[in-house]
Amino acid sequence: MSDMYACDLCGKPTPNFKPWTCGPIAGKLGRSWCDDCEKRFEREHAWENEQWHKDEITCPWCGYVDTDSWEFEGEYDDAYECPSCGKPFILERIIDITYTSKRRVDDMPEGWCGDEPIRDEEDADE
Ligand SMILES: [Zn+2]
Ligand SMILES: [Zn+2]
Repeated sequence: MSDMYACDLCGKPTPNFKPWTCGPIAGKLGRSWCDDCEKRFEREHAWENEQWHKDEITCPWCGYVDTDSWEFEGEYDDAYECPSCGKPFILERIIDITYTSKRRVDDMPEGWCGDEPIRDEEDADE
């Protein structure tokens, strides 16, 4: 007999258990979804046809790419209408924050050329 778990979504007993690959999350080691919930999730996900992190708003119905995406001021709209086919879809604006850092040129030691490691003053006299 294999172990039985309770489905995380509907509570039905299920032998399904998928451990997280990245260790425990919120005290749980993995997820247990029964076959029904797994199937429903896959179906819903396939239906959503998510256009993941596109540079422009991309219609999940007709594939129309809205090159005026910057005109969308909101952060989330669950009834955004495609300007091409007029069908509604969920639109989320994801703002990626990235950081760029670099050393100040002013801090470059004298005589430093290219990929040589930076050495302390004392070592440099050898
Ligand atoms: Zn279930
Ligand atoms: Zn469309």
